[in-house]
Amino acid sequence: MTPSAEQNAPWYDADIERVILSSDQIAEKTAELAKQIDADYAGTDGLLLVGLFKGAVMFMADLARALTLPLEMEFMDLSSYGSKATSSGVVRVLKDLDTDIKDRHVLVVEDIVDSGLTLSWLLKYLPSRHPASVEVVSMVRKPKALESNVPVKYVGFDVPDEFVVGYGMDFAERYRELPFVGVLKPRVYENA
Ligand code: 5GP
Repeated sequence: MTPSAEQNAPWYDADIERVILSSDQIAEKTAELAKQIDADYAGTDGLLLVGLFKGAVMFMADLARALTLPLEMEFMDLSSYGSKATSSGVVRVLKDLDTDIKDRHVLVVEDIVDSGLTLSWLLKYLPSRHPASVEVVSMVRKPKALESNVPVKYVGFDVPDEFVVGYGMDFAERYRELPFVGVLKPRVYENA
């Protein structure tokens, strides 16, 4: 790389081992998912998208703009007790829904499903509010999610069991703004 090209490279390039989903691939897949969702909910009075903070923000914004159905958007913030590795499936609601979901078609929007524990909890919690239906769309799914059988109706991409960042997903609150999904270099974890 020439010195001027290096100067123009975004700050995060040096931290990324490899890109696994380019922004073009993400955009193409989002359009595909939106088309399928539009078709599945045709004839309904529209959808209530429920995004999970903070990771789903980018996908939620892009998916909402790709859908042609009437939409409302809500966000929830959920936190699992303990570390991710030993997550017990006990979930704390840091921010609940601001609206009544009774008789609404709810589509939960996730960035990534890994163990599926957070989502399994949510899929037990939401029906107590009597929605017309609840389904899930996730941009990315990891292999563990398949083992857990958590029902994710719409999946963008299956990715290997590696820690990924970008397109809303963070490491220590950084890298969410990356327009692609990539794997971090090990030295980033080692120095953290
Ligand atoms: P689960 O309950 O499915 O194990 O965890 C889901 C949450 O864990 C995601 O919403 C995300 O916040 C986090 N997570 C799981 N795998 C990854 C990953 O590879 N990268 C990032 N940045 N977060 C992940």
